[in-house]
Amino acid sequence: MTTLLGTLLDSLRRRAPAEENLACPRCGTRGSLVPVEVSLPGGLLACRSCGQAADETGRRLDPCPRCAWPSPPRGQDRHPCLPAEELPSSPLDEALLEDLLPEVTGRPVETERLEDYVAGVLERLAPGPEPARVHLLDGGEPLVCLLPGGRRLVCSLGMLAVLEDEAQLAFVLAREVVFEERGLVGKRFAGTGRESRGGFLSFLRGGTRRTVRDALLLSLLVGWGPDLEREADLLALRRVARAGWDPRRAAGVPALLEPGALEGAGSRFAGAAARARDLREEAALLVARPASRVNREVYRRAVGGFAVFATP
Ligand SMILES: [Zn+2]
Ligand SMILES: [Zn+2]
Repeated sequence: MTTLLGTLLDSLRRRAPAEENLACPRCGTRGSLVPVEVSLPGGLLACRSCGQAADETGRRLDPCPRCAWPSPPRGQDRHPCLPAEELPSSPLDEALLEDLLPEVTGRPVETERLEDYVAGVLERLAPGPEPARVHLLDGGEPLVCLLPGGRRLVCSLGMLAVLEDEAQLAFVLAREVVFEERGLVGKRFAGTGRESRGGFLSFLRGGTRRTVRDALLLSLLVGWGPDLEREADLLALRRVARAGWDPRRAAGVPALLEPGALEGAGSRFAGAAARARDLREEAALLVARPASRVNREVYRRAVGGFAVFATP
């Protein structure tokens, strides 16, 4: 794999000697922290066991309530956050994003039919004033995130390949809708278009292009931290049930996606066993409508006919 994403995933899979002995500040596992190439001062590691983010010294990093970038606990460090007047988010630079996406994801995949299908599922979960658009990433890792505004989704072919039916796809997309509706996505991208000296961009050290790229990679690979990710599991489950899919199918999703984390492809779906347990309990509380959809065959027809990977 020669894409930028591929290079970054390779770097995730390599562990520097300094990280071998670090314990995860959340779950205590040694050697589970892998580097993520996002340009934060102090570096960024993600735990493959529990999904926690940490800096290079093993200190815990959680999403900042204001800018949603990984930040140290309050008072432990100066966190050069967005100034209050720069919130809420400015619109994302669309032209830059169009330019950047192929660089991050590999060549654009000619899969209009598949993109329309995924966009249709997103529309049913979150109808909006503009039609939903989907950018498919050419790669085998299960990755997904929404962009600010919630009408544009980035999703890998690997994600579609590993899921088993439409109810599971709906669950994965509903999780992203939860983060977007909470404003986390907008907050994270809010500072990326600003060319201010001494402000947010200089904190991230790289100019607009690099910062948008970092926000995208952060959202795909590290997500929002284990607490919010697990909370989103449950909120997404209810949303999926309300929209008419069978919520019981969601419990299988973490086990399908966790191997990606173990291989170093992000940490968002770590901790599968506990998450599956929570999802099963929650699904049992939701009254599945007799006609709730799984749509296995529909999904297979949409996804299965496509030669999924250009890359392994
Ligand atoms: Zn951990
Ligand atoms: Zn902040």
